[in-house]
Amino acid sequence: CGIVGYIGNQSASDIIVKGLERLEYRGYDSAGIALMNGALDIKKGKGKVQALKNKLKASPAKGSTGIGHTRWATHGAPNDVNSHPHISESGDIALVHNGIIENYNSLKKELQNKGRTFHTDTDTEVIVQLIEEIYENGEEVSFEKAVRLALKQVVGTYGLAILHVDEPDRIIVARKGSPLLLGIGDGEMFIASDASPIVGYTKKVVYLDDGEMAIVTKDGYEVKTIEDVSLTKK
Ligand code: GLU
Repeated sequence: CGIVGYIGNQSASDIIVKGLERLEYRGYDSAGIALMNGALDIKKGKGKVQALKNKLKASPAKGSTGIGHTRWATHGAPNDVNSHPHISESGDIALVHNGIIENYNSLKKELQNKGRTFHTDTDTEVIVQLIEEIYENGEEVSFEKAVRLALKQVVGTYGLAILHVDEPDRIIVARKGSPLLLGIGDGEMFIASDASPIVGYTKKVVYLDDGEMAIVTKDGYEVKTIEDVSLTKK
C-alpha cells in the first residue's frame, strides 16, 4: 500500500517512520521497516505505524539506509509474518511491495521444486525468493541483474524497494502499475509511493514510469528499463 525508503547520512528509521505516518491516510493493516546495518535489521507486524514505533523504541534499528512499508493485505491474512519487508531464505535480501503478483502460485511451485522454503502466505515472497534463486545460481549475476531477470518472470503490478547485504550502498526500486518516485537531496535520496513523505525534504523529484527500475545510492540514481536500457529522466 505505501512505500518509503531512505539512503544518506541521517537516521533512516526516523525518516522512514515519519514518511509512513504521512501515508497513513491511505489505510493499511500492518507496518514494517528494514535497515541496512552490516546485516538486515527487520521490525514489522500487524497494526499501526505507532506499533512499529513502539517496537523501534524498545529495540532501535540503526542505519542510514532502509526501506519501509504499510501493507493493505491482498494475499495472506494481515498478521506479523505476512507483513513487509519480506526476506529471502538466506536473510540477505529484504523487499517491500505494493501491488499484486498474478502468477505467484506457479512461480512459488517452481521455486519450491528447486528446494526453497516459503514462510508466508503472500504473493510478495515469491519475488524476493526468485531474486535470490537467480542471484545464487546464475553465473556472475549482480544484485541489479538478478532483480531485472526476476521481474521479467513476474506477471502483475508492483512498486518495489529492495536491499541486499552484498551491496549495502544501494537500494533498487522498480515500478509497474503502482506509483514510485525518487526525491533528490544533497548527499541523500528519498523513495516513496507518493509525494507526501518527500515534500518536506526536497523539491527535486523523479517519477518512475511503468517498466522502469532505478539503482539509488546516496549520491544519485540511475534509471533503466527492465530490459536494461539506460534512461535520462526529468
Ligand atoms: N500483495 C501484497 C500483499 O498482500 C502487497 C499488498 C499491498 O500493496 O500493500 O502483501
